[in-house]
Amino acid sequence: MFQFDNSYARLPRSFYAAVMPTPVSRPRLLALNRDLAARLGLDAGWLESPEGVSVLAGNTVPQGAEPLAQAYAGHQFGGFVPQLGDGRAVLLGEIMAPDGTRFDIQLKGSGQTPFSRRGDGRAWLGPVLREYLVSEFMAAMGVPTTRALAAVATGETVWRETALPGAVLTRVAASHIRVGTFQYFAVRDDRAALQALTDHVIARHYPQADSPLALLDAVVAAQAETIAAWMALGFIHGVMNTDNMAVSGETIDYGPCAFMDAYHPQTVFSSIDRQGRYAWANQPQIAVWNLAQFATCLIPLMGEEGPAVEAATESVHRFAPLYQAAWLRRFGDKLGIEGAPNRQLVERFLTLMARQRADFTRTFRGLVDGTARDEFTDRAAFDAWAADWQALRPDLGLIARTNPVRIPRNHRIEQAIAAALTDDLAPFRRLSQALVQPFETRPEWDDLSAAPLPAEIVHHTFCGT
Ligand code: AMP
Ligand code: MG
Repeated sequence: MFQFDNSYARLPRSFYAAVMPTPVSRPRLLALNRDLAARLGLDAGWLESPEGVSVLAGNTVPQGAEPLAQAYAGHQFGGFVPQLGDGRAVLLGEIMAPDGTRFDIQLKGSGQTPFSRRGDGRAWLGPVLREYLVSEFMAAMGVPTTRALAAVATGETVWRETALPGAVLTRVAASHIRVGTFQYFAVRDDRAALQALTDHVIARHYPQADSPLALLDAVVAAQAETIAAWMALGFIHGVMNTDNMAVSGETIDYGPCAFMDAYHPQTVFSSIDRQGRYAWANQPQIAVWNLAQFATCLIPLMGEEGPAVEAATESVHRFAPLYQAAWLRRFGDKLGIEGAPNRQLVERFLTLMARQRADFTRTFRGLVDGTARDEFTDRAAFDAWAADWQALRPDLGLIARTNPVRIPRNHRIEQAIAAALTDDLAPFRRLSQALVQPFETRPEWDDLSAAPLPAEIVHHTFCGT
């Protein structure tokens, strides 16, 4: 069924711990991503069968898999932790899609590993369904992201202050290699391992890069694009720790993430982010901070220290212009102005939106429907801006192709999770279907575009554990 080719398992033993997923008592398939299965060349019918579900639950290890938990370190909210690692996930192995692309197949919530510390190695239904919905929306929007192949209920109880149903997510990624993976070896002064990891990442993700510096340049560029894509959707990752930043450039580790309803640049959702370190507007600076940590790991491989530090610093500094250009391109497209949009016009609009707490998604989408004005209480201020905007002859088609009709709104995700807790998967399925067609207008999905009523607003999201 799976044609594994496990390049990570061929790396030195210090890179991981070989560990089997822990079987669960009563696996039940909650969701299977048929489109993704097809893209991967996997047989959806088999994945849905009892044998398939047994694999997706971690009860059966398929032939050719070499399950392992990856070692990594990371800065969590700025504080360095020399050993984290996959504490509740195992990499089953890597497969090649029919188009030749290599993908990791990982089970998240699959039981304890040597990296679990005090954790139970499990996940509960809520974060599994959240990651499924949000990552598949991101994929539908063309944002680099890990993906969700399946969600399985374990039939077991997970304790998170209260008893909750356990679940396992099958996550698909270009790789699960993080900035923190490099930090793990850097802090141990293991140059041979750093070199092996660098070679592996270059071969796998950036074959055109011919040196550690070129790898750094490529990761900086990839992250600049990814973060700009988040910003253009009002997305807040929530836990941009270095262990949650993939060197592939994919968005990874959807925990207490969320999309803004009412726009304000300092918006924070994560209940664990008390200082607002990872607020929406801070994300580009945090990316630079994380990339500086990545650069620090690569410096020992870059020759003489003085010039290496200089080159690495310069590389990290290139994030700003790359990000600014990507940001302007994306927000220009959102306003229907291709090519050389006027930064001031975008900024004026965002300032206006922030002042009036306009709904981020509805306001931009409303520019094509003529309803944007309704999102503002001070209509005169909007009209003044709109006159200048109209003078630029915006392309309405571009606006419609850029701004989604709906996003995974927090209150809808929470409702879907609440229903799933009573064994009603209908809201999850409906949301899941609507979110992967984010530009499609359908009367029966109108409620999913609406902003939350005051009583429905979700102020905090909780960590994905
Ligand atoms: P996160 O903040 O969710 O990215 O996770 C940070 C670290 O904690 C990673 O090393 C995870 O593997 C580990 N971790 C999170 N939840 C659990 C859990 N329930 N059991 C074991 N390890 C966990
Ligand atoms: Mg993580």
